[in-house]
Amino acid sequence: MKIHEYQAKELFRKYNIPVPDGQVAFNADEAVQVAQILKTKDNRYVVKAQIHAGGRGKGGGVKVVDSLDGVREAAKQIIGMQLITHQTGPEGKKVKSVLVEEASSIARELYISIVLDRATARPVIMASQDGGMDIEEVAEKTPERIIKEFIHPVIGLQAYQARKIAYALDIPQEGMKDALKLIMNLYKVFMEADCAMVEINPLVVTTDNRVFALDAKVDFDSNALFRHADIVSYRDLDEEDPLEVEASRYNLNYIKLEGNVGCLVNGAGLAMATMDIIKQYGAAPANFLDVGGSATDEALENAFRILLSDETVEVVFINIFGGILRCDKLAEGVVKAARKLEMRLPLVIRMKGTNVDQGKQILADSGIQYAVEETLEAAASKVASFLKQPVA
Ligand code: GDP
Ligand code: MN
Repeated sequence: MKIHEYQAKELFRKYNIPVPDGQVAFNADEAVQVAQILKTKDNRYVVKAQIHAGGRGKGGGVKVVDSLDGVREAAKQIIGMQLITHQTGPEGKKVKSVLVEEASSIARELYISIVLDRATARPVIMASQDGGMDIEEVAEKTPERIIKEFIHPVIGLQAYQARKIAYALDIPQEGMKDALKLIMNLYKVFMEADCAMVEINPLVVTTDNRVFALDAKVDFDSNALFRHADIVSYRDLDEEDPLEVEASRYNLNYIKLEGNVGCLVNGAGLAMATMDIIKQYGAAPANFLDVGGSATDEALENAFRILLSDETVEVVFINIFGGILRCDKLAEGVVKAARKLEMRLPLVIRMKGTNVDQGKQILADSGIQYAVEETLEAAASKVASFLKQPVA
């Protein structure tokens, strides 16, 4: 689960990770009020679009201004704009709010983040002296400029490791103590809040050698949200895919994808195999959907409805292994849902496992239109044949 920068900074403050003074505003008047409260000495402010995507600076969503009028103008421009960045996709994202902060005098822009490294099964801190808006290019062209420090999850981040990172970042002596504390606290928030990622880009060194988080990005492990009610309250449903939001209401594992084959599968492994094989046959999945091992009629109907309300879907592919969810139960559920939702799209079904013959009989007697296939290959090939424009 992603959150906004202003929320991430609120979380950082709780963990004594220094961030600039600032507050969120939902319109130009509020933005000016925030700036008046901040009362910076030099009257310089920064107005930043709040969306769940990075690259805002390059997309025109971050403006440094030097007057209250400047704040008003920047807020007017940014709020309501359709902000396009390399992370939003070509349609961009509508901006609903801005973060108004005191502007900082930046000497250097550094990078630091923590993610889980799957290969070593440990948290890893990544850091670079080349932070700022071109970090993707650094990662691609000069990866040696990014250092990594792996952390043993039982003993946690050690002071010597924090020092190693701070030296690698060439933190000036005056800022060293704060930088070390910041790194230790960043690890603390990563672990305690069950984050999938924390990222500070840029971590700045100011002209007077202070070190703090100019930007803040946090992504939480959704599977751990049940123990973080305070964090769940940060959720902004407007920033998420509406179909995914709907699916999460029924505990369905649904992820929207780019293709046009709606997939209804039980089990995450089978769901992934299904996506792979339809790709091999020149089609592409419109979604990942795992209805789970013990899906009820209601869950099946909701899954079906969500899948069908995706307008990009041209063919529906149901691929079920009847284990706990028996094939006859599934067939009943499918028939019921297909009738109720008046499904008109081509439907390909592959079923294996418990009570498969009864399941097939129920489908055959139902009068709904579908094609049934025995093997994954045949089913995938059938799916592709129904598409208006199979992708190469
Ligand atoms: P992102 O592009 O979405 O990652 O947004 P950031 O918060 O990282 O801001 C983008 C860039 O704007 C930063 O890399 C800075 O160069 C610049 N910027 C942001 N805040 C300030 C500020 O207070 N003062 C100055 N001079 N530049 C800033
Ligand atoms: Mn940034």
